[in-house]
Amino acid sequence: MDAAHMGADLEKVLITEEEIHAKLDELAAMIAREYDGKDLLLVGVLKGAVMVMADLMRALPMTAPVDWMAVSSYGSGTKSSGVVRILKDLDTDITGRHVLIVEDIIDSGLTLSWIKANLESRNPASVEICTLLRKPEAAKVDVDVKWVGFDIPNEFVVGYGLDFADAYRGLRCVGTLAPHVYS
Ligand code: 5GP
Ligand code: MG
Ligand code: MG
Repeated sequence: MDAAHMGADLEKVLITEEEIHAKLDELAAMIAREYDGKDLLLVGVLKGAVMVMADLMRALPMTAPVDWMAVSSYGSGTKSSGVVRILKDLDTDITGRHVLIVEDIIDSGLTLSWIKANLESRNPASVEICTLLRKPEAAKVDVDVKWVGFDIPNEFVVGYGLDFADAYRGLRCVGTLAPHVYS
């Protein structure tokens, strides 16, 4: 699929590339202040957080190391299964370190609350969360999220790392898909 076709499958653009970058610059400034002089480890959740991580880490004025986790909570569809399983664990020992989880989106909150509890059990100095997107209406569990880019309506979105059946991750904006894509 080429870029023009990918864009044609969108129904509407919710957040533009420019808006995303401006927001990540703001978040990076706050994060830099919070972790000034501290041993910060960025932890990205594959695969959705790849774009957020790439832009956030370049916006940060410090050279924080990065590690990745992969979990499964969604299949190829659009509904949460509520089941979390570690597909790829961290390479890093996080004991005594300040961990910042970097996420694309919090929907029900089930995945992130599970990941946060899992990382907290490894005796880090702290665990906080930064997410680009959050759907407040979809929350099933309360997750303590320190930095949120945008609160969005309870709709299925793609782009900027977010997929539908593993496609559309490369879109530079965040948007909703046209109905013909689902049928
Ligand atoms: P949660 O456990 O908070 O319901 O969702 C966790 C994961 O589901 C997210 O990290 C993301 O991968 C996926 N997800 C949730 N909402 C959406 C959405 O609107 N679009 C896409 N593409 N993925 C979503
Ligand atoms: Mg994610
Ligand atoms: Mg997905």
